[in-house]
This record gives sequence, C-alpha cells and structure tokens, in this order.
Amino acid sequence: MDGKIERLQGLIDGAERIVFFGGAGVSTESGIPDFRSVDGLYNQKYDYPPEEILSRSFFDRYPDEFYRFYRDKLIVRGAKPNAAHEYLARLEKRGKLRAVVTQNIDGLHQAAGSKNVLELHGTLLKNYCVRCGRRYEADFVQNASETPRCPACGGIVRPDIVLYEEGLDQDVLSRAVTEISRADMLIIGGTSLAVYPAAGLIHYFRWPHLVLINKSPTPMDSMAELVIAGKIGEVFSQLR
Ligand code: NAD
Repeated sequence: MDGKIERLQGLIDGAERIVFFGGAGVSTESGIPDFRSVDGLYNQKYDYPPEEILSRSFFDRYPDEFYRFYRDKLIVRGAKPNAAHEYLARLEKRGKLRAVVTQNIDGLHQAAGSKNVLELHGTLLKNYCVRCGRRYEADFVQNASETPRCPACGGIVRPDIVLYEEGLDQDVLSRAVTEISRADMLIIGGTSLAVYPAAGLIHYFRWPHLVLINKSPTPMDSMAELVIAGKIGEVFSQLR
C-alpha cells in the first residue's frame, strides 16, 4: 500500500459518517465515457456541443437529434458496476457510509447495492411521457429505433434526467445538503467539479476530512486534506 492509500484507509477507519460525492469519472472504468477527459464526450465531434444537445430547449426543438446522441453516447448497454461502485456499497453496508451523492445518471451505484443514492441529475432508468406523464422503463426507450412515443397518447417519452436549463429536484437537493453537512468525512471522486449547482453542494461540508480522488486536478484540490491523482476504481480496490 503506498503512503496516500494508507492515509486514506486510516481516515476511513476513523470516520463514522462518510459521504461520497461523485461524477462521471466513477463510471469510466465501467466503459461509460465522461464529458471532460481527453477521450470524453466534449472532445468528440458532433454537429452541436454535448451541453447544447442535453439542454431542454434543444430537446424540445430537435428530439430526433437528442435521441441520436442518447443512443450513440449516453446509453452504454451492458455496463456493470466497477470496483469504485462496489467498494462504496460495501462501506454503506458496514455502516460507515451514509450516502452517495452523484451527478451520474447511469444507475450503477444502485446496481452495486448502494441504497441511499441521491441522484442530483436524475436517472436514465426512469422515463415518462411529456404529455400524459405515463411512466416507462429504460428498455422501452432504448429499444425504440426512433424518438420514443407514448402508445397511450402519442406524446414524446423522455428520460427522467435533469437537462441543462432545468432545475434540480428540491427534495434530492435538500437531502444531499443534509447528508453532506452532517458528514464527518467527504470523499469527492471522478468529477471535474465544473457543473453547477451540483458542485456547489460540497461547500456544505464543514468537517476537516475532505479527500479528493480524481485523474486530473480540480478547483478544490487546495482545500482537501488528501488528494489522490488516479483511477478511483484502482484506488478503492486497494482498500478494506
Ligand atoms: P466530467 O466529465 O466533467 O469530469 C469527469 C472527471 O473525472 C474528470 O476530471 C476526469 O479527470 C475524472 N476521471 C475520469 N475517469 C476517472 C477515473 N477512472 N478515476 C478518477 N477520476 C476520473 O464529469 P462530471 O463532473 O460528473 O460532470 C459532467 C456531467 O455529465 C454530470 O452532470 C453528469 O450528470 C453527466 N454525465 C454522467 C455520466 C454517467 O452517468 N456515467 C457520464 C457522462 C456525463
């Protein structure tokens, strides 16, 4: 075990109310691309930048384009939880971790067995008709070859994710604030901390044990007690 991993293990052993705050980098080792890495979605060429395609006004105007991107890049069929998701689920089971606050929309924390997962940006696993509100499973949307339409009313079916220009769910937001402000250790991992208001939530953490695990530097590195530059699945797989 190298020195930093050993220190992280010591902090985890001493903590009782850990909260994990993560983003797309947690799922890259499961084969789902993030946005801002060199091979991430922002560095690939589309007719429009990803944040425009994933905005509410774009979805309303060009649902077919939105769904082309969705099928191409957002949905990764067969993606499985990796060592990072699995370690966090184990920490929760052991009573050490109180919550996973995630910007991810892929459902992999729950697939690994985590229970208290606060999905700030919603989930691709739930979908609803924008006209009548009927709910649909992910398969219904993923199996559609074109823009999925509600069989009952003909309205467009959309994933229950927070698009750019839309507000975050107030209940999820306030639960995340509560968990973070009560935590005695906050582990931030796999996020550029560039997407607001989600990234702003970490400022509700008041205790000293702030740990950052990320492949590239973040704006919060100077605030952290411990910064580990590496792959989060590889880091977590060295821990008890
Ligand atoms: P981001 O793409 O802005 O940043 C990802 C960060 O993770 C980068 O700093 C990168 O260096 C780091 N990283 C990549 N792989 C890593 C690994 N294996 N270990 C440690 N660090 C790693 O992602 P973000 O901050 O989450 O913000 C992007 C937004 O995009 C979020 O709102 C999220 O909803 C959405 N998104 C979600 C998914 C998903 O659900 N899996 C995928 C792409 C984008």
